[in-house]
Amino acid sequence: MQSKAKQVVILGTGGTIAGTAAQAADTVGYRAAQLGIASLVEAIPGLLACPLETEQVAQVDSKDMGFSVWQALARRIAHHLAREEVAGIVVTHGTDTLEETGYLLQRLLAPAKPVVLTAAMRPASALQADGPQNLLDAVLVAREPGARGVLALLAGAVHSAAEVRKSHTYRLDAFCSGDAGPLAYVEAGQLRRLRDWPQGEALGLQAVAADVADWPWVEIVSSHSGADGRAVRALTRIGVQGLVVTATGNGTVHEDLEAALLEAQAAGVRVWRSTRCAEGRVLPRPDDMLPAAQAGTPYKARVELLLQLLSARGA
Ligand code: ASP
Repeated sequence: MQSKAKQVVILGTGGTIAGTAAQAADTVGYRAAQLGIASLVEAIPGLLACPLETEQVAQVDSKDMGFSVWQALARRIAHHLAREEVAGIVVTHGTDTLEETGYLLQRLLAPAKPVVLTAAMRPASALQADGPQNLLDAVLVAREPGARGVLALLAGAVHSAAEVRKSHTYRLDAFCSGDAGPLAYVEAGQLRRLRDWPQGEALGLQAVAADVADWPWVEIVSSHSGADGRAVRALTRIGVQGLVVTATGNGTVHEDLEAALLEAQAAGVRVWRSTRCAEGRVLPRPDDMLPAAQAGTPYKARVELLLQLLSARGA
């Protein structure tokens, strides 16, 4: 039976969607995370008739996103998801690290209700502000019967948060899901679905219960022409616990860097290979000495490795 829940909870975390500039024509020299979530919602007439509540979980430029906001956000989402009257949740976020937060939330919660991350490429004060339409569309998805999983709504496209990535620095349509493509579109207030909603097994909030000061240290290093092992050896010496290498092509690594990564692995550091290619995933080969990351980008792989290291501590 389809749930009759109608309430949507909108959690604000900052970002350009809550940003302002001194001039309406200024699309780069603005400050993110200036307006509260309640005032963003009040400015959208189409939301007045919806049963909504708002909560300010954080107020940050998402380039500065950190573990304590992740922990607080995951807890608040889990709290509201457990409420019977809540149909779904919207999270306003900056575009810069939305793909990391989205990946984390899907792995932790794999919710049976929709949790829709949305954002904007233009501040609220801009002539071409995209935040209000994105927020309106995100609420529509959060109220969609049968929708589930952590999703991202940007520029009329609904993506799986586990697959989405920011792919453009400036355009309003700045996100893509690589070769997976979007899950659905919102067109003139109607949802047109293309694929199934995301499923998955939730790790649960206990995975991120540790004090954030004790979370494992996982870094990203990269392979490129002229790469060497100095940075990896230094990181290993000072206690890094996980390394994701942004490898070339199908996970290939410069031989000098690879030597240092193998030393790190032998010293107990978890080392995964991801790729700098914008599409595709690293396909494992029988002679691989460093495991291939399963998550789609080095940034998502870093979140996955962080979660695995955290979970292993509790095991
Ligand atoms: N730096 C901003 C942020 O990620 C960019 C944006 O939201 O578009 O918070």
